[in-house]
Amino acid sequence: MKATAMSTLLVASSALFAATPPIAHFTVDDVDLRTYQDAGQAIPAAIFPEAPQTNGPFRSSCNVFLVIDGASRILVDSGNGAPRGSLAALLERDGVAPGSITDILVTHEHHDHLGGLLEADGKPAFTNATLHMWWPKAEPRAPESSFRQTYRGYRLNLFADPATARLPAGFTAEAAAGHTPHHVFFRKGRLLFIADAFHAIDLQFDHPELCAKWDADRDAAVKVRRTLLDRAARAGDGLVLCGAHIPFPGAGSFSGKAALSTWHELE
Ligand SMILES: [Zn+2]
Repeated sequence: MKATAMSTLLVASSALFAATPPIAHFTVDDVDLRTYQDAGQAIPAAIFPEAPQTNGPFRSSCNVFLVIDGASRILVDSGNGAPRGSLAALLERDGVAPGSITDILVTHEHHDHLGGLLEADGKPAFTNATLHMWWPKAEPRAPESSFRQTYRGYRLNLFADPATARLPAGFTAEAAAGHTPHHVFFRKGRLLFIADAFHAIDLQFDHPELCAKWDADRDAAVKVRRTLLDRAARAGDGLVLCGAHIPFPGAGSFSGKAALSTWHELE
């Protein structure tokens, strides 16, 4: 399938730490997809204990995605929150009122994905949104009750099984445990939101066996990466990978074998 994406890069910068964090707009099959760079990020080689230490730091990013489809305005994750995160300022600059966000798909429980959900006073940053998140019944570390208490300002859809999750705007969920026990992908059409499957594509596209030290279950994380790369190679432009830590704008496809050399950014 030929990609039918077009882009308007409102503010572009290839610098790792841009003075003005960038916003990208895409149209993918009639869906309005936007990337906000919540934080610029470069990852030191030491984060990958098994990688050659002479390489790095590696390009990275902290991306938050917005999908607008009809009346649905759906964020995928929420970034770091203040003061490190830029999401709130970027939404304002992009003319998106926080109260207009209808849903937030949370890929996992790490701070760079949950941090933007609450204001400093504990109130919800997105007053009309429903939070959707995978909450495996066997998860021992973080009781569901404390999560419900912390995020009580939101409507919560904590689903026990990604395969049967009820999600807005035709989204589906896919279990991708490994990075964390809650780590989940979200899919809508050709868009596949792959959260933290990759922290440094310069290293891990060609070496999926290398884990960042943040991967909780390393064997499972490697398996998730390998399976994803095989699938993305077969799909070509039929699958647009949208990664939280893929260098901005964080979205793209492979042409042929999945490798850094065949990766092309969405445009
Ligand atoms: Zn992350």
